[in-house]
Amino acid sequence: MSEVETSVEKHVFEADVAKLLHLMVHSVYSDKNVFLRELISNAADACEKLRYEAIVAPELLGSDPASRITLTLDEENARLVIEDNGIGMGRDELVESLGTIARSGTRAFMERIEAAQNKDGAQLIGQFGVGFYSAFMVADNVDVVSRRAGTDKAWHWASDGKGSYTVSAVDLADAPARGTRITLHLMDDAKTFTSRWTVERIVKEQSGHVPVPISIVEKPG
Ligand code: ADP
Ligand code: MG
Repeated sequence: MSEVETSVEKHVFEADVAKLLHLMVHSVYSDKNVFLRELISNAADACEKLRYEAIVAPELLGSDPASRITLTLDEENARLVIEDNGIGMGRDELVESLGTIARSGTRAFMERIEAAQNKDGAQLIGQFGVGFYSAFMVADNVDVVSRRAGTDKAWHWASDGKGSYTVSAVDLADAPARGTRITLHLMDDAKTFTSRWTVERIVKEQSGHVPVPISIVEKPG
């Protein structure tokens, strides 16, 4: 990926995010599938946000008004890519949304974990919507490339989930025309998430109600 600016900013995760990530990575929680529900739900939320903003600013939709979510299975490189053409995130939104715990649900989850002194942390993952950071249950590296609708800048957020992340500008040619592309570099025990059969089944089970069409494509090897 060609970086527009040579500057790559390095950020340290907020303490609570680091704690949550540690929990995700070391979780013995067996139902890791929930990460897909979380990322698809974020993608669908992003499409809804765009539709809402487009009521007063229809130009945001450009020549591509239909919302979509695409899952790309890349078995050869052990990657799963989740892409949406929703609202996207600018630099500050990436730092704010993927570097802190802003949301109340995750905050409540953290409080429960603390109270339980990690005893039933694994079970709690299933009961709460654990959000974006659940990606690190299956991936040892996560790349997020995003372009906010109506802007002419794209950004790359990257992390190995071990305490810090980087943010840098990327060439527009390497980014979605608008929206967000999340690339999961799957861990050895999570390679099943490049299998169409597995992914189709999980999507049907967990994301059947999602109001945005989801297509699954295989990257030719
Ligand atoms: P929640 O969805 O409950 O807010 P998450 O941890 O799932 O919590 O996501 C945190 C935030 O990151 C979202 O609120 C949103 O602002 C941002 N975000 C995550 N994924 C996307 C996406 N695909 N497109 C746009 N914004 C996103
Ligand atoms: Mg979410």
